[in-house]
Amino acid sequence: MNPVLDWGDPHRINADLHCHSVQSDGVLNPEELAQRAAEQGVQIWSLTDHDEVSGVARARAAAKAHGLAFVAGVEISVTCMAQTVHIVGLNVDETHPALLNGLESVREGRNARAQDMGHQLAKAGIHGAYEGALKYVGNPALVSRTHFARYLVDQGVCSDVREVFTRFLTPGKPGYVPHDWASLPEAVGWIRAAGGQAVIAHPGRYSLSPLQLDALIDWFKALGGEGIEVVTGSHTVDEYKSFARKALRCGLKASRGSDFHGPNESHVNLGQLPDLPDGCVPIWDNWSHRFQ
Ligand code: AMP
Ligand code: MN
Ligand code: MN
Ligand code: MN
Repeated sequence: MNPVLDWGDPHRINADLHCHSVQSDGVLNPEELAQRAAEQGVQIWSLTDHDEVSGVARARAAAKAHGLAFVAGVEISVTCMAQTVHIVGLNVDETHPALLNGLESVREGRNARAQDMGHQLAKAGIHGAYEGALKYVGNPALVSRTHFARYLVDQGVCSDVREVFTRFLTPGKPGYVPHDWASLPEAVGWIRAAGGQAVIAHPGRYSLSPLQLDALIDWFKALGGEGIEVVTGSHTVDEYKSFARKALRCGLKASRGSDFHGPNESHVNLGQLPDLPDGCVPIWDNWSHRFQ
């Protein structure tokens, strides 16, 4: 049984539907995240690790202990229109074979990619980065650029994680290794097969022209995608408004999530986001029956 949530006006519910644990590139474990979410007044919480659902059962149990309403989540890495796009799945059955097999296939290439990143960084004069990054990894199947970034910060190469990405880990920079993730139909298909709702994560972060973004949204909707993140830790205040308009115009539901990775790294804490702009239809609009 989920905790009972006094539903009231869905717009005023503190939903945080995007964050990461040590099972991907977050710093806290699922129990620590649940406690933090509860302390911050989150009412509906989801754990959305990259390409991984192994933290979901622990997160659900911890959420229950704190009286938090919980939905199982995941953030799938997708290659689309020649770049990486993230698709969040909410309300998934984390035991569904189609989802589990799909996620396993996405994780498969990560280790070889990470070794390659180590080689590329060595050519740029930074040695031992692969081995160094591994020390920060909580889940051996999930080596991420973030782990390299933390290592380089601790080595004093850069002063913060953001600087590592700007100087080394983004397209065209010495440690960046292109990678083929899932296709958009695969990611949306796995989420839907597992009974979940697909959401385009942090649309403001992509280098897409307005026409390309509209094409992505059309394709996503044709595949059965339902939502788009409007209020996220990755968006500016202006982007909250522009993506709220976009969601309304395109008939997508709006999601809200901090994308919290860790206390000293993420500038937005769990649950510390403004409400969705008026007019948006929250992705959790019809979830009340889950929490009765
Ligand atoms: P990966 O899945 O290994 O490509 O790593 C992607 C993760 O890197 C994202 O989920 C973010 O946590 C992090 N990331 C990507 N770009 C940046 C950036 N510019 N600054 C800080 N973190 C970033
Ligand atoms: Mn991340
Ligand atoms: Mn993301
Ligand atoms: Mn994320």
